[in-house]
Amino acid sequence: MDETPPSSLPYPTSLCHRCAAPPKYVRTKTSTFILCPLLPQKYPPQPVLRCPLFRPKSPGPEEK
Ligand code: SF4
Repeated sequence: MDETPPSSLPYPTSLCHRCAAPPKYVRTKTSTFILCPLLPQKYPPQPVLRCPLFRPKSPGPEEK
């Protein structure tokens, strides 16, 4: 099994959680937004299941 984001994060299936971009999590009192540093629109519709700019965060399971 590979990395799963903490359950507090929205859209666990989103590619963004595994992206090297890296996305920034913007928390408000009621929700968490995923801000992409690469896309012009910053907040892509979630969950992102495909993304041309996606790069895996880590090559293996032993992430530091
Ligand atoms: S590049 Fe794509 S996958 Fe990566 S954080 Fe931005 S929207 Fe998400």
